[in-house]
Amino acid sequence: MDKANRKQDALNYHANGRPGKIQVVPTKPTNSQRDLTMAYSPGVAEPCLRIAENVDDVYKYTAKGNLVAVISNGTAVLGLGNIGPEASKPVMEGKGLLFKIYADIDVFDLELNTKSVDEFVMIVKALEPTFGGINLEDISAPTCFEIERRLKAEMNIPVMHDDQHGTAIISGAALLNACELQSKKLDKIKMVINGAGAAAVSCSKIYLSLGVKKENLVMFDINGLITPSRTDLDDTRMFFATERKDIKTLADAMKGADVFIGLSAGNVVTPDMLKAMAKNPIVFAMANPVPEIAYDLAIKARKDIIIATGRSDFPNQVNNVLGFPYIFRGALDVRASAINEEMKLAAVHAIAGIAKKPVPEAVNLAYDAKNLKFGREYIIPKPMDQRLITEVSSAVAKAAIASGVARIAITDWDAYAEELHT
Ligand code: NAP
Ligand code: MG
Repeated sequence: MDKANRKQDALNYHANGRPGKIQVVPTKPTNSQRDLTMAYSPGVAEPCLRIAENVDDVYKYTAKGNLVAVISNGTAVLGLGNIGPEASKPVMEGKGLLFKIYADIDVFDLELNTKSVDEFVMIVKALEPTFGGINLEDISAPTCFEIERRLKAEMNIPVMHDDQHGTAIISGAALLNACELQSKKLDKIKMVINGAGAAAVSCSKIYLSLGVKKENLVMFDINGLITPSRTDLDDTRMFFATERKDIKTLADAMKGADVFIGLSAGNVVTPDMLKAMAKNPIVFAMANPVPEIAYDLAIKARKDIIIATGRSDFPNQVNNVLGFPYIFRGALDVRASAINEEMKLAAVHAIAGIAKKPVPEAVNLAYDAKNLKFGREYIIPKPMDQRLITEVSSAVAKAAIASGVARIAITDWDAYAEELHT
């Protein structure tokens, strides 16, 4: 299909029938007058009064416990940039759709017409009674850091900015497995990060938690290497400044590096740069839709490479959908008050672990593949792998309980897994 047809197809997909991609569906019988008197007045007064007496009963009598807000102000939408709140709505509806099909979580997508941090925080905080969790989405750096920090501190339901932490969790899992396959130790690898935005900062932090040494990591933004002498950087980026004097350009940094992490822009890495990397290099070229280096060019430059991208048309797609549905599923199911580091790391290990186990035939079939097997071209699970919901959600829920942020306990984990599966 040519490009013009593909574009028209996408427009038709959204416009045909009822415009948009999601709707609200009642979950209780509505067939009789009696049903309706319970759904609304006078019957509805009973749960209202119960909740007024004990506010936690809101989880018992309303949809709050399974309802996530996907909230954006449209300032950093996909690879499309600052296109505004209305234009971000198809993406937020899409995220709602993914939450629903992968983890049966209901979503209201909320597009806010504000760029003010204070106003954004005030609005989202006031939504706490409605939702079980908050997924912040496509908010530009650096305001996204402050918005998330303040909301996490001030709210008692899980808040996660998926562009930061989802990417960090999935690429963290990919990094663990790529290092294992390439016989590299996390505390020894030399890492180059290109990009210093929302995703790069959060990914770098999780890599440090996984064992990468800060002194072995160098980071670039569009103006070059992040060094202590730069005067144009906030504390978040300055944290990653390197003292190394032997590097000026990206090409310098790539010499002898074990790992390249691209969260920047398309086509900024050359085959020569890959050729200068250490033996068995690991390259995550995650700029979307055009990676830092094209998959084909990269594997042509280095036979010993492991490469991942953000694209579904090549092996090893770093796709946030492997994480966010199940992270929120696990958090909601134990009524966690937050999504903390322990829960994120539990998700990293659970996702990494799935890729190392034999692949169910259903996954091979879904991807028209034969014999997917842990290795160079399969370092992370595929989105349609049914094991994700049971293993990642359970790991996240367990970590919430162990780290003290769960408000209800799960004791029968087999029954929980069974319930998730159906
Ligand atoms: P962002 O907050 O806008 O950050 C982009 C960063 O890249 C900024 O620090 C920017 O520098 C830097 N940059 C841009 N061009 C550069 C260049 N030529 N050389 C070096 N640095 C450059 O965006 P983000 O949300 O972090 O996302 C970054 C990229 O990763 C996007 O392409 C996005 O689609 C992709 N991404 C992929 C995945 C995935 O595969 N799952 C997930 C998240 C993000 P300045 O700070 O100086 O402007
Ligand atoms: Mg996003």
